[in-house]
Amino acid sequence: MATDFDLFIIGGGINGVGIARDAQGRGLQVGLAEMSDLGAATSSASTKLFHGGLRYLEFFEFGLVRKALVEREVLLRAMPHISWPMRFVLPYHKDMRFEGDTPTSKLLTFFMPWMKGRRPAWLVRFGLFLYDTLGGRQILPGTRTVDLTTDPVGRPLKGKFTRAYEYSDCWVEDSRLVVLNARDAADRGAQIMTRTKVIEARRVEGVWEITLEGPDGPKTVTAAGLVNAGGPWVEDIIRGKIHVNATEGVRLVRGSHIVTKRLFDHDKAYFFKAKMAALSLLFHMRRTLP
Ligand SMILES: Cc1cc2nc3c(=O)[nH]c(=O)nc-3n(C[C@H](O)[C@H](O)[C@H](O)COP(=O)(O)OP(=O)(O)OC[C@H]3O[C@@H](n4cnc5c(N)ncnc54)[C@H](O)[C@@H]3O)c2cc1C
Repeated sequence: MATDFDLFIIGGGINGVGIARDAQGRGLQVGLAEMSDLGAATSSASTKLFHGGLRYLEFFEFGLVRKALVEREVLLRAMPHISWPMRFVLPYHKDMRFEGDTPTSKLLTFFMPWMKGRRPAWLVRFGLFLYDTLGGRQILPGTRTVDLTTDPVGRPLKGKFTRAYEYSDCWVEDSRLVVLNARDAADRGAQIMTRTKVIEARRVEGVWEITLEGPDGPKTVTAAGLVNAGGPWVEDIIRGKIHVNATEGVRLVRGSHIVTKRLFDHDKAYFFKAKMAALSLLFHMRRTLP
């Protein structure tokens, strides 16, 4: 049966617009409904980093990290006007404790039980060596060891930190990334509808019938495929809009950004590892701040 769209996407966050751009670019006819504005939810409130997932090395996810590292440079090349390299300072102290239930921790506990959640410096450096090399890095500078007793990045830190490792990742204007993806999808023929809520979607004779509530009132469209890219609303969409009796639930997590007075003058970020519930603290200055 002929449909208005090959693929209809619920949600105009980075996942929704990214899928829209990709699918439209592959020749599908795509429609997307966003109940608010593009990137209005999670995708404009992120920490704005795009990275290769350094912490996933702890879980031996080498394939995942490699893909993310390759993609990091692809993105930097594709959008140099909204993304920038960023250096991260990882202070090292032999008593620092890391997450205890990762495969790396379990292996270390087995072979070096006396370490008790601590990491030898050579292992941290080896992880960063992998991070530098796995993705065939071309644009970003590699890791360097920093003497915190002489380097300016040591000044704001406690005296017990004498050594750090400085590595590369990137940051991005997240909401503009969303809008640019949507813009490109639309330029290729996708229909991107903002201020348009999906009220209901039903499968009728092998086709999705989707009821929308937009600025011009309600309307129904049809699509062969449906994507739920509703972010935090993903479960509400499954149960409340598509009426699927899914047995699995979604656990929402919340991150916190704390804005402080200026703590240091350089534009690098500090990344502190701590054991407590995998707490990672990141301090960085936005270059755009006065
Ligand atoms: C504090 C924090 C920091 C983060 N930092 C980073 C980071 O530094 N780097 C990184 O890569 N990732 C980061 N993430 C993760 C990243 O932000 C998310 O993975 C991503 O933004 C999720 O995008 P999304 O499109 O799935 O969801 P969202 O951006 O939330 O989009 C979902 C959209 O669906 C719409 N919607 C819902 N229901 C309907 C409906 N019925 N009809 C129409 N539209 C609907 C909503 O209005 C919303 O706009 C962070 C996340 C958090 C919470």
